[in-house]
Amino acid sequence: MISLSAPILGDEEKQALCEVIDSGWLTMGDRVEAFEKAFAAIHGVADAVAVNSCTAALHLSLKALGIGPGDEVLVPSLTFVATVNAVLYVGASPVFVDIEAIDIPHISIDDAKSKMTSKTKAVIVMHYGGYLVDLKAWRAFTDVSGILLLEDAAHAPAVGSVGRMSDAASFSFFSNKNMSTAEGGMVLATDKSVLESTRRLRAHGMSTDTLTRHRGHAYSYDVTLLGYNYRMDELRAAMGLVQLPRLHTWNNKRIELSNFYRHLLSLHTPEVIVPFNEKHQTAAHLLPILLPAGKNRLKIIDYLRKEGIQSSIHYPPIHHFSFFKEKYPCIILQKTEVFCQRELTLPLHPSMTESDVNRIVLTLNNSFHYKS
Ligand SMILES: *Cc1c(COP(=O)(O)O)cnc(C)c1O
Repeated sequence: MISLSAPILGDEEKQALCEVIDSGWLTMGDRVEAFEKAFAAIHGVADAVAVNSCTAALHLSLKALGIGPGDEVLVPSLTFVATVNAVLYVGASPVFVDIEAIDIPHISIDDAKSKMTSKTKAVIVMHYGGYLVDLKAWRAFTDVSGILLLEDAAHAPAVGSVGRMSDAASFSFFSNKNMSTAEGGMVLATDKSVLESTRRLRAHGMSTDTLTRHRGHAYSYDVTLLGYNYRMDELRAAMGLVQLPRLHTWNNKRIELSNFYRHLLSLHTPEVIVPFNEKHQTAAHLLPILLPAGKNRLKIIDYLRKEGIQSSIHYPPIHHFSFFKEKYPCIILQKTEVFCQRELTLPLHPSMTESDVNRIVLTLNNSFHYKS
């Protein structure tokens, strides 16, 4: 079976985890700090805040930036549900924005412009599949409009200027992402005070953390705001410290495999559209394709599975989920609907080989001609 994604784990991770257990210090210690510093450094920024998921990162960055009830936040519908849930957690209202085009499935600036109101306070862009949105254009747009720019960078760690141009960026270390700590997340922000607020919100709103108190720098603490427990633990940070130095190599392998996919797909299944192109800056998190209009996607998924190939859909649009449909009826995003009807995600991870890609493309082609 060729799986859709697979974390790369081995002896180094095991050893790192054993060292934490032997140390007797399980959470919010030196390793969390070291992981934050290393993650910041690989993105060319000074500091970062580690949390226990990207969902927590999104929630806290919205909170730290002062987004709340009465505010509107522009969001894509083509994303994982957590992007939009985070907006609801802070009591703000998501406003769904269409994609640019079916071969550029990024949140559209033009559609965002048309959905601005006096209540619009922020936009969350999502680097779909690892392909970076045009951060320069988004920064220019948000600066002119006086709104905040947030990145859901769950698909795009350590690529281009991710995390450097926005007001806050959220990353994920869930097990199917480009690097993993099983569960985990990180916040990057250009403004120090945003990171400070995020740090405080992460740990119950307390004014000092356990490590500082343990080191004897503080004897008590105050609670200055309504905080949460979104801490990362030392076991996860230890895994992150082992995974992070390999991230660039893994991302590059993903890009190479994606380019090989593009080449073979254009040869064998020219009727398939592969969004973006080889030159687009990417962490190559996913290999999304658009099936020809009218093809039966579920039958193709089934055929691939019987041939030992896992595939998936990224994503069912959020405004189609019953919870959101009930809250926000009558939303129509024409390009998003078409994209989401035809999208199929093929396996992509660094332990795959070119011969795996070859087998997948040939099997996909067979599935198109298979009559059951
Ligand atoms: C995975 C993912 C998330 C959520 O990440 P968690 O770490 O599981 O909370 C958010 N947004 C996108 C786009 C994702 O792919």
